[in-house]
Amino acid sequence: MTECFYETLGVERGSDGATIKRAYRKLAMQYHPDRNPNDEAAEQRFKEISEAYDVLKDDQKRAAYDRYGHAAFANGHGGGAQARGFDTDSFSDIFDQFFGDMMGGGGGRGRGQSSARRGADLRFNLEISLESAFHGVTENIEVPTSVSCDDCSGTGAEEGSSPEMCPACQGAGKIRTAQGFFTVERTCPGCKGAGRVISSPCKSCHGMGRVEKTRQLSVKIPAGVEEGTRIRLAGEGEAGFRGGPAGDLYIFLSIRPHKVFEREGTTVYCGVPISMLTATLGGEIEVPTLGGGRAKVRIPEGTQTGRQFRLRNKGMPQINTPIYGDMIIEITVETPVNLTKAQKDTLRGLADELGDKHMPQSTGFFSKVKGLWDDLTD
Ligand SMILES: [Zn+2]
Ligand SMILES: [Zn+2]
Repeated sequence: MTECFYETLGVERGSDGATIKRAYRKLAMQYHPDRNPNDEAAEQRFKEISEAYDVLKDDQKRAAYDRYGHAAFANGHGGGAQARGFDTDSFSDIFDQFFGDMMGGGGGRGRGQSSARRGADLRFNLEISLESAFHGVTENIEVPTSVSCDDCSGTGAEEGSSPEMCPACQGAGKIRTAQGFFTVERTCPGCKGAGRVISSPCKSCHGMGRVEKTRQLSVKIPAGVEEGTRIRLAGEGEAGFRGGPAGDLYIFLSIRPHKVFEREGTTVYCGVPISMLTATLGGEIEVPTLGGGRAKVRIPEGTQTGRQFRLRNKGMPQINTPIYGDMIIEITVETPVNLTKAQKDTLRGLADELGDKHMPQSTGFFSKVKGLWDDLTD
């Protein structure tokens, strides 16, 4: 170290303290290791600058230096002064001390902490039958997702090795650059912000720490779910990135259309055909229910197509309650077909006996039609 401390800082011998401080700041920013990754020359230069400033900022040390030169600070530590030793950590201390307030606080370097990321939430569409929605069901599903790699325990590094600190950013994941007097932080391009780099990636997951896998899950679906009901399975989503927490899995339910029943909320609708004779004379019929059993319904005589009957508590359960909705059946009167000649003769006899009265009188529509017909035929 033959260079004069004043030359190192590029100042005149007689410069005042403020000038020396300004010169040091300028050079420190230029040669700071954060700004010169993997540059040993710059690091050496930074040490020299810091050492020079350490002496020249202190009046006593500066006086000793002016008198004895470098000899004052050689191995013997003459004059009681001691050149400061530097390690990488003190670099950041100096740096933060000078510039930290401009960046909104001391700003720890947070080595490698930004490498872990939460896994993504996943959506799984599941279609179930209306019966399953009625009773509740446990469905076994296969979810294609990524899970933490077993071979590297999710680190992404090959067995026996481990992720190393990114040399470009010293593990910070960010790089500071000075623009004029201001310092700008940006994501480290060397590790993309992870702070760590993997030199020998795990072969199973190619360094991602996760592998694609189909997982078997069993999902408990409560009775009464509806079209579009979502069920959240916490932590069953995509695995976290390099040790981060897993995302959630959302099951989106849809209900397969039923051949017989239609559902609206907790109400279930069902069309029921009855024979003309039952419709005419009345009787008792049995209708299927979603619960699996059959319900008896009394049909009054003279029942028309379109008439509805309400069956209490035979509808869908209301989710998470012991309450059931109603079932509504709508009657369709079937016209007899493929009658034998004898059966037709019987009906003709009935028609003769009833005369015009076989036309239904109960609705305004038919009365009106009959009236028109009578007008035309008269
Ligand atoms: Zn980096
Ligand atoms: Zn792996």
